[in-house]
Amino acid sequence: MVCPNNGREGLLVPLKTVKNFLTGQALARLDPQSPHYLCQDPACPVVYYGPEGVYTQEEVRFPVYDKGASWICYCFDWTREALRQALARGLDPVAQVEEGVRAGRCACEVRNPRGRCCLATLRAEVEALASP
Ligand SMILES: [Zn+2]
Repeated sequence: MVCPNNGREGLLVPLKTVKNFLTGQALARLDPQSPHYLCQDPACPVVYYGPEGVYTQEEVRFPVYDKGASWICYCFDWTREALRQALARGLDPVAQVEEGVRAGRCACEVRNPRGRCCLATLRAEVEALASP
């Protein structure tokens, strides 16, 4: 299903992700029987959408990476700024997150707005920060 606002194909996300991100008022309109999608265009105000309608930036409780927020790992609180500081101190944020995943401490399907693991995105962000 494409975003009703910009006509681009969105990312199918688990229902529990949408439930976690929506405000109480927005949640009252949710059709839990329908599939829901994340609009990944940072210029579009629509965050999630489904057959029943759209949910905008004002209707989500946390900043969303695909909408320009610097949050990358939502389980272990890695923002772009935190990554930059950790890299400057010689730490390995990717290894830390991998360790957390191995230990079963992550909850990406609920905490990440995409409803999936952040590791691929985290690696790309770290690479971008490491090569100026
Ligand atoms: Zn959109």
